Order: sequence, then C-alpha cells, then structure tokens
Amino acid sequence: MKKIEPQKIKSLRIRQGLSQQKLARLLGISDRAISKWELGYSQPSADHLVALAQIFGANMEDFLSDVDTVKKEEAKGMKSLVELFKIGRGPSSSHTMGPERACKVFMEQHPEADEFQVILYGSLAKTGKGHGTDQVIEKTLAPFPCEVVFDAMETNIPHPNTMDMIGLKKGVETARARVMSVGGGSISFENESVIESPEIYPEHTFSDIAAYCKKHSLRLWEYAAERENSDLWEYMDRVWSVMKRSVLCGLEDEGILPGGLSVKKKAKALFGSQHVDESAETRENRMVCAFAFAVSEQNASGEQIVTAPTCGAAGVLPAVLYYQQQKNKYSDRQILQALVTAGIVGNLIKTNASISGAECGCQAEIGSACAMAAAALGELFSLDIDKIEYASEIAIEHHLGLTCDPICGLVQIPCIERNAVAAMRAINAVSLASFLWDSRKISLDKVIKTMKETGRDISASYKETSEAGLAKIVF
Ligand code: SF4
Repeated sequence: MKKIEPQKIKSLRIRQGLSQQKLARLLGISDRAISKWELGYSQPSADHLVALAQIFGANMEDFLSDVDTVKKEEAKGMKSLVELFKIGRGPSSSHTMGPERACKVFMEQHPEADEFQVILYGSLAKTGKGHGTDQVIEKTLAPFPCEVVFDAMETNIPHPNTMDMIGLKKGVETARARVMSVGGGSISFENESVIESPEIYPEHTFSDIAAYCKKHSLRLWEYAAERENSDLWEYMDRVWSVMKRSVLCGLEDEGILPGGLSVKKKAKALFGSQHVDESAETRENRMVCAFAFAVSEQNASGEQIVTAPTCGAAGVLPAVLYYQQQKNKYSDRQILQALVTAGIVGNLIKTNASISGAECGCQAEIGSACAMAAAALGELFSLDIDKIEYASEIAIEHHLGLTCDPICGLVQIPCIERNAVAAMRAINAVSLASFLWDSRKISLDKVIKTMKETGRDISASYKETSEAGLAKIVF
C-alpha cells in the first residue's frame, strides 16, 4: 500500500501554474483545504483525488509516495526521528510549539489577512500566560497585529488545549479555524482528519536493534539511516544548526527570564567566570553547564529550540555535543551521527515508556535526555553498541523516580539546573560504562520498562501540575 504524498500535490499544482486559490475554485472547496493537503494536515477524499488527477492530467499513482517500501509498510514500531527532534519555540511543546505551528499554517492559508485575533481556551487559557503562549503567537504572526484573548471560562471545547484563529482584512473577518494543540507540538484542525505519521522502525526494543546491528555490522546511526527516508541528514543538519544557535544566543543573553519569578539568566556569567586556578575538570563542568543553561534559558525565554526529547529537557544533549565539538574538534558529520544515535535511544523511551513530564514525571524528560546524551557521547567516542547501551542505561537508571514540580508551572526552577546536572551526569555515565560494561546486570530495555512503571506510581501532583514538591513549598 502506498500513501498520498503532500509534496506531490503541491508540485503537480505548481507544474500546472495554478495557485492554491485557483485550484480551490476549480474543485469548489476552500483554498485552506488545499493548503492543508499540501502541508500533510489532511488528505483529499477519493472524489477530490479523481478531480485532481483530471485537472493535472495525471494518474492516481502520481499522488502516491514511493517512500513506503515493503519494509516500511510492514513496520510496526517507532516513528521517524523527525517526530522526536522538533524545531520550534519553547518553553512547552503543547503551549508554544503547537500554537506556533497553528499560526504558521493559518497564515499560509490566509495570505489576505492583515490582522489576526486568537482566542485561547482550556489549559491554554489557564497557563498560557506563564508559558508565554501569547508572546509566541504574536511573534509568529508578526508583523501583522494580533489580539490574544484568554477565555478560561468556556468549557464547551473539544480538547483541553483549544484555540480559535480569526483572520481579518481591513477590520472585517475573512477566515476562522478551531485548532487543537494535541501534544508534542502536533496540532489538529477541527473537523479535519489528521494523517498519522507512519511507524518506520520495525524494531522497538534495544535488544532487537542491537541484534540487527551486530548481524549486519552496523553502528546505530547506520541502522537508523537504513530505516529513515533519504532526507534524514538534511533534517538533522537543521536540528544541529538550531541547537548550536541556541547555545550561542544563550551565551550572549542577559537579564531576567519572563514569567514573574525574577530568575536571572546565568549562562553568560557561567561561561565567563573562570577561576585563576581552575582545574581542567572544573572548567569542563562549568563549560558543559554554561551550554546547558544557555539552551534552557533560550527555551524559557520562548526562543527557538529543538525538543531533545522535550522543550524542558532541551539543554542536555546540545550541551554535551557542543562541548565535545569545541574540545575535540568533531566534524558536524560526526555530531549528526551522534545525534541520530541519541535519537534511537529517545525513540525507544518514547515508544516503550514516555518522554512526557505530565505522564511519567521528570525522569521521562531529563532522564531521557540524559540517556540520549550518553548514547551520543558513546558514539562520538566510538564505543561499541554494548557500551553505548550501558551508558544510556546508567544515565536513565539514576533518574528513576525524579518528579516534575516546576515552580508556578514555569520551565525554570528546577528545570534549568536540572539540564546542567543531567549533562554532567551523561558524561560520567559514559566514563563508567567504558570501564564496567562487562559487569552490568540491567539492560536498557528493562530500565525503560521500570521507568514507565515508576511513572505510573508517581502521584499525579508530581507530574507537571505544580501542586507539590518545590512548587508547593516555595509558594
Ligand atoms: S521539572 Fe517538569 S517541566 Fe521541568 S524539566 Fe522536569 S519534566 Fe520538564
């Protein structure tokens, strides 16, 4: 079975010299629907496909993707790493990345609009201010003016994170859409079917992946490259560029983080505060922490970051990789291979347990990020697959039970320091694994399973509700 490829609809339309508006008129539908087909947010009905084929002078086959090879059709398991490493504005995938994506799609669908209004409901209305949802919306829709309304009273909504987007031209409403931010940065337009991204990795345990890699003499990143589409490296290149930019911007930034807690940005000070008699070890810790603070502070400021695997834990992996690139001059290509290796570990945790603080506590965010960073570093150090597994296992094992209790619901305290500590811990985990790998008793698969069970047992008040722990004691 093949699937409809959004890009093919777009390229056939352009080849015919048709704008989205013209094609929409020919089909008797809204140009918004065309835009959604081309972006992959919904797909044409069978009748529309037949009509498209007639308009384009094409065959039905021309709309289908040939990336669905037999191997991928049969796959039952993990999704692409593109679904794990998402690029967008922090500090929250559901409260900032989802709304940011919704704004981009809506803007593209309605180029006529010269002004916008966005109404936030449910959780977006209740905690959107603290997360900076309104600021992200305004930045994304800029330079057009936008009014953001928080309506926490409306209860008749289809999802806890619902928003209405309204486009205006010269003060008159021309477009309206209801959008749900459904988690992990994904969005869904009301009354439109969503195309689920395919599962392209048949294996979904580390032991299966390791067995395959050993049989075919592959490193983990080579295994991923076999499973992913050919544009993986181009995407990972973008991921690494954004990660580096987050580090560099964060090191330049000063002042107070938004949200009202008066938390000072510290990355720049950490980076520049060298002691006269600083040891090499202390310097390493300071540098790694400065890089983790830099990215985490960019996230808390609502700037662009990469989920690794989440917004709250976005600083761990870039901190470790950026430090290693500076210190040991690894090429970008080597860093990309390390990133992909980290992605496999993150994907395993996402598939078999969780990467959500709301679901399993901070062990699922910072613990997962630490395991990913350990795997990445193991790849950079050319460790074999058993040692990489051990390093990841150590990294996550010692985060088991870590609760999520962010003060005031802001991704600042304890989140930012936690990124720095986890980055240092990832480095230690790799050192330990290099020496002790043949004495280990616990597999990565087992510790992931344990993390899931532990997450279930953690009280709900310690899972991103800000009702317990530090959030309760401090305020
Ligand atoms: S404490 Fe909660 S919000 Fe902060 S990094 Fe951990 S999981 Fe994310």
